[in-house]
Amino acid sequence: MADFSEVKDKDGKVCGLWISDPKDANDPVYLAVLMMRLGVPQDACARVMAGGGRVVANTVDNKGGCFVMFDSAPPADSPNADCSNCRTKAFSTSEFEQECEKAGFVKDAASGSFKMKVGGLAGFGNSVFSQLANQQESQQATFNKIENQRGYRCRSCRAVYCMKCLYASAPAHSRGGKACPKCGDTFEHLE
Ligand SMILES: [Zn+2]
Ligand SMILES: [Zn+2]
Repeated sequence: MADFSEVKDKDGKVCGLWISDPKDANDPVYLAVLMMRLGVPQDACARVMAGGGRVVANTVDNKGGCFVMFDSAPPADSPNADCSNCRTKAFSTSEFEQECEKAGFVKDAASGSFKMKVGGLAGFGNSVFSQLANQQESQQATFNKIENQRGYRCRSCRAVYCMKCLYASAPAHSRGGKACPKCGDTFEHLE
């Protein structure tokens, strides 16, 4: 019998198994016996038996083998998510803020929204006004471009979309906002 150990989540609950032999990790009979012996809750057993578990190679340490995780969710939300539609990189909230700052926007502490920094112009009368207008216009365009790439994640199926694709092609949700093209649920910001 292969070596194994329990994987516990931060609350100390068993949320998966480490198994030294990948062959065993993919063997439902082996898993069923092992989970029964360890007293893994029925619903988690059933999920794994139904193919809902995740088998991931162990890259955490050099013990080798692999993990069988009981949840079917993808591993911790990846910050490098791409839009499911156009495949461009979708910005998480922190990446979005970094991009805004790189482009010279400042975050308004009170409202949390980004403001344009305008100025640095010298001149007289109309020439300053028109330069200022141009500057605002191009900054608005820059901001729109960054915002279009901001990522949203579906609350149910976890699909990621960029804002541009959601606005262009996602149906409206009855509770407001956009509905997931895959499952119909609502979105949250990609964190
Ligand atoms: Zn997209
Ligand atoms: Zn969805």
